[in-house]
Amino acid sequence: MTDIQHVVILGGGFGGLATANEIRNSLSSSQVKITIIDKKDWFMVGFAKLWIINGTRTFENSIGNLNQLEKKEINFIQDEILSIDLQNKNVKTKQESIHYDFLVISLGAVLAPQKIPGLLENGFNLYDHNQLSEIHNKLQNIDSGKIAISIMGMPYKCPPAPFEASLLIDSMLRKRGVRDSVQIDFYSPAPITLPAAGPEVSKEILELVNSEKITFHNSSKIKLVESNKLIFENGEAEFDLLLAIPPHIAPKVIYDSGLAKESGFIPIDRDCKTPFENVFAIGDVTSMIVTENMAVPKAGVFAEGEGITVAKNIISKLQSKDASELFDGKGGCYIESGRETASVIEVDMFSQPKPSTSISAQTSENLSSKREFEKERLSKWL
Ligand SMILES: Cc1cc2nc3c(=O)[nH]c(=O)nc-3n(C[C@H](O)[C@H](O)[C@H](O)COP(=O)(O)OP(=O)(O)OC[C@H]3O[C@@H](n4cnc5c(N)ncnc54)[C@H](O)[C@@H]3O)c2cc1C
Repeated sequence: MTDIQHVVILGGGFGGLATANEIRNSLSSSQVKITIIDKKDWFMVGFAKLWIINGTRTFENSIGNLNQLEKKEINFIQDEILSIDLQNKNVKTKQESIHYDFLVISLGAVLAPQKIPGLLENGFNLYDHNQLSEIHNKLQNIDSGKIAISIMGMPYKCPPAPFEASLLIDSMLRKRGVRDSVQIDFYSPAPITLPAAGPEVSKEILELVNSEKITFHNSSKIKLVESNKLIFENGEAEFDLLLAIPPHIAPKVIYDSGLAKESGFIPIDRDCKTPFENVFAIGDVTSMIVTENMAVPKAGVFAEGEGITVAKNIISKLQSKDASELFDGKGGCYIESGRETASVIEVDMFSQPKPSTSISAQTSENLSSKREFEKERLSKWL
């Protein structure tokens, strides 16, 4: 009898959970051993962070517990991954050393506010789960002044999310009756709102934020932050409350293992393979080039799609079949309006001759399907 093969998945986020479940749904624990390693024991759908900020959710009500994976005979190890030995097929955590036959790297992107001088001292990190309640409290207490939302590096997770945040904040202030005395400014280093979605969708997003009197300042590349002041390469702006989307980088263990160059992400093609046999990389930790100046955006739907692609290829390999599945590049992201509606931005990154994108109308049905999207992920994965 041959030994049972071991699939080790680094990261229990969107990509890792999609991969593990897809494999386990096809193969039993007597056919393949699956282990997920993550330093935290919970999973949250990214957009729930904005619901914690607007006060319609708590952190505790928004997470799934990764220990539930054991019920599906998926091993879960809560530990920090310190190194990946690609030659000897070994992953080292703080507590143990784990051998793999197949490795799926889905470690996500790390937020790096320290890269912008003065940001840690003078602003909040809109994407950091530890700061959400404090941001909520600040927004509940601001009665006048200027709120700045600033994208401080590209690429960043879920390109529409900061725009959605500005609309939800607008809604909070309207409900409190203070919106007319609070200015909301949105700063981005990009020339248009959503470069990855193209000029037409970008124009619609611009119209949407402008309709709520949110001012979009394009081509605003941040240099540093001072107390109550943003210093850009081409000017300055004052703020009373700064909500930043800091630059994103890969986790240190990725650079240490040589899988990505400094400040970059793991380069992959549509098969999600790395140069190492049976080692795959998916999701936010990767960069999948679409055209010369465009990569697949960092979003949960893409991490999930890539995870399913890799899972299918691993299943085929384990069954000694042809493993030639490619990621299709299709996905959709919701953008909530703050008026009990949402629209969906659909993209097809590999459509020919160029990526195609579209945005739907704002409807309450879309908002319901956004809520359903979260419920479905939590219930089918955990
Ligand atoms: C506000 C907001 C709104 C969003 N809205 C959407 C949306 O509407 N639609 C959408 O598709 N996406 C959305 N996203 C993006 C989405 O959350 C990410 O793109 C997605 O989580 C990426 O999945 P991943 O598996 O690549 O990484 P992650 O989900 O980030 O998972 C990586 C995991 O690796 C673990 N890890 C990292 N380093 C180590 C280490 N050294 N040791 C152990 N564990 C480690 C982390 O703890 C983490 O759990 C949103 C994100 C935010 C912040």
